[in-house]
Amino acid sequence: MAGRVYLDNAATTAVDPRVALAMRPHLEGRCGNPSSLHWAGTEARAIVDLARRQVAALLNAAPEEIIFTASGTEADNLALLGVMAAADRPGSHLVVSAIEHPAVLETCRFLAGRGIAVTGLAVGRDGIVDPDQLRAALRPQTRLVSIMSANNVVGTLQPIAELAHISRSHGALFHTDAVQAAGKVPLDVRSQPVDLVSLSAHKMHGPQGVGALYVRGGVALMPQLHGGGQERGLRSATENVAGLAGFGVAAAIAAAAMADEAVRLVGLRDRLIDCVLATVPGSYLIGDRFRRLPGHACLGFSGLEGEAIRLLLALDAAGIAVSSGSACSARHAAEPSHVLQAMGFDPFRARGSLRVTLGRFNTAADVDRLLEALPAAIATLRPIASYSHSNNA
Ligand code: PLP
Repeated sequence: MAGRVYLDNAATTAVDPRVALAMRPHLEGRCGNPSSLHWAGTEARAIVDLARRQVAALLNAAPEEIIFTASGTEADNLALLGVMAAADRPGSHLVVSAIEHPAVLETCRFLAGRGIAVTGLAVGRDGIVDPDQLRAALRPQTRLVSIMSANNVVGTLQPIAELAHISRSHGALFHTDAVQAAGKVPLDVRSQPVDLVSLSAHKMHGPQGVGALYVRGGVALMPQLHGGGQERGLRSATENVAGLAGFGVAAAIAAAAMADEAVRLVGLRDRLIDCVLATVPGSYLIGDRFRRLPGHACLGFSGLEGEAIRLLLALDAAGIAVSSGSACSARHAAEPSHVLQAMGFDPFRARGSLRVTLGRFNTAADVDRLLEALPAAIATLRPIASYSHSNNA
């Protein structure tokens, strides 16, 4: 088998060697708790402060508006639970899109069980939230609107500035899960009226287990972790100094490289999409053709929707790592995707997609490998798939 190819960058990204270099001293002996007053603590505090400035710069935020967390999931939980707990008024209402990541949707389910009214906005066939639907969903009691910047399954970009503006003019706070978008497309909290933004280091070539929540100054948030009062009392726990050193460098590299990287990845992505659509009979693109993340392609194959896992495994056998949806749903891989269903796909078609996501270290040769392997992988599935599909009909 030729070398292995990793095309699942929406699940996680390889740590950039410059990030690893920045983390190394903090993993190999250098120690210090940022809360300690001695020289070791002071050094650790300086590392955390630098990371805070670097992550803030990626969003054009002030450093004190960044709360570090242990993941994007935790940042989403803190945003939703923290805002709704701080609001704590009877009849409080929350609006989310139906294509959010489970970190948001499951938190909504929890809140709904505690008496919060939750509205889920369906999206169009293009995978994009309609601003008029948001307008119609808002109520006087709406405290928070949460709509992701970019979807993890289909890669579509949402009109965040417009949605945030609508929310604010109705008096609701606006949160965006930017875990997939950050470092890939520009996000500017000064020009966009967003109040809370979730980030995760491992989606931008930083380490796993490190995240952040941007909280606009003046937004009331109830902490969800209680303890020593770190992170301005909003997220107690000793800081992950090595992880934050890496997150800071990952954010700085992403900010500096974003424009060039986007052009390169759009070129690779578009060649991949065009070639698959031209050469694989029955193939179709899922989600808007252009309003999508630079390196993100989500493809369907007519009649093979129930065979997404077998297609993934056939490509895996050829050394190519792709996804059949989101990594988080791998345990529920045989179930229809909630994202595709919200886009109007019937439950059968919603079971299958091929997610190919490119990152900093992918090359044109990687795309070529996929393009070579895909028709053969599909050919092995077609006869069985059409048989089982017709039997299911
Ligand atoms: N939000 C989105 C859109 C994601 O894609 C993910 C991870 O896949 C998360 C949140 C969760 O982030 P983390 O893996 O850091 O918990």
